Amino acid sequence: MKLLFANADILSYENDWRLIKKGYLGIENDRIIYVGQNKPDDAYDQVRDLSGHALIPGLYNMHTHTPMSLLRGLGSGLPLDRWLFEQMLPVERKMTPQHMSVGNRISMMEMLASGVVGFSDMYHHPSNYVADVIASGMRANLGHPVMAMLSDDPASLAGRIRESIDFFDQYNERADGRLLTDFAIHAEYTSTAETVRTYAELCKERQSRLQIHLSETIKEHEECKQRHGKTPARYFYDLDVFSNPTCAAHCVAVEPEDMDLLKEKDVTVVHNPSSNMKLGSGYMPIHEMMKRGIRVTLGTDGDASNNNQNLFEEMHLAAIIHCGYMHDPTLLPVGDLFKMATIDGAVSQGRGDCGKLAVGMKADIVAIDLDAPHLMPNHDLLSLLVYSAQASDVAMTMVDGKILYEHKEFLTIDKDRVRYDLRKTLDDLFAEE
Ligand SMILES: [Zn+2]
Repeated sequence: MKLLFANADILSYENDWRLIKKGYLGIENDRIIYVGQNKPDDAYDQVRDLSGHALIPGLYNMHTHTPMSLLRGLGSGLPLDRWLFEQMLPVERKMTPQHMSVGNRISMMEMLASGVVGFSDMYHHPSNYVADVIASGMRANLGHPVMAMLSDDPASLAGRIRESIDFFDQYNERADGRLLTDFAIHAEYTSTAETVRTYAELCKERQSRLQIHLSETIKEHEECKQRHGKTPARYFYDLDVFSNPTCAAHCVAVEPEDMDLLKEKDVTVVHNPSSNMKLGSGYMPIHEMMKRGIRVTLGTDGDASNNNQNLFEEMHLAAIIHCGYMHDPTLLPVGDLFKMATIDGAVSQGRGDCGKLAVGMKADIVAIDLDAPHLMPNHDLLSLLVYSAQASDVAMTMVDGKILYEHKEFLTIDKDRVRYDLRKTLDDLFAEE
């Protein structure tokens, strides 16, 4: 199947962003085969006129906990540790596989509607919703996290580790490679050194990737120093975690030496500005990281701490909060920000053939409807995308050459079914006992 998009403003990338006004983009099956100003000579099965639209690469949400949409809005106004232990965990303990599937589908719909083509997820027992992820047509790196409290009995811990290994072996590179399975360590404060080391070794044996939470709050960071006499970054470094390709979420409280370690080991940092601002965690030192050449990507975090899965909002917030905080409007060029949300996300997920609109790349394409007052006039598309665009401007989201979302309709997720399943889920989880 060959499909040609015509008359669209195409945001291509060759060493830098390049805008092709009223251009053509051709795809064959799951790949981009043409990007250019002139109409290609070869024949296409279908031509779609996209006048008034921009075609951009799909976005990557590099840190989320998809089932947590069920907890959206709970515990607002609480500090992170009370939010987690008093509001999240008691409900999460009651969640069944069916409940997690509902929460996951809600999050995926939010992401598709905001132009996200790939996400990195960390949640208990992802096998409970992996079938939904495959059916959605999205790209995902699903992490099976280990949380090992000192009080855990060894048998149940061994069972959880076994479950991670089985999950990896069963699902990695499934669905034409759209699904990748990562190992995940929830955080320093929810694990033991022995488990962290075991997990890092397992990950290395399987040449997989790791997802972790790192120095999300000053409290967590300082308590680690009291416990271990070192920062969380140094703790994970010494346990050989960073010998694996690692995505570290938050990194708000990291110190200069920590950033040197992250750079040395090529760790990807995931910036979650909404979550950090909402939970009062603080400002990630993004400028210090960029100065060191650390790869920074963007994430929403779970719906319970954001409270949505809208990566346009994360781009916008990342763009403005640091400039304000540092009194420097030159801190974050829009091209760099958009690269964090696209190319750098794809690369950190281990997807070198995704993240940009160029010949030979996967056909992961988002169409933006430019016919909105807040997008007029269009002097600078990158600036519009970062500072002005809304998720609702997304007209189409395509992954692997398949349209998954268009005209506000989800083509791979049954929204009515989700609504129906949600009603039952809420009765189960929140009805008065
Ligand atoms: Zn998180």
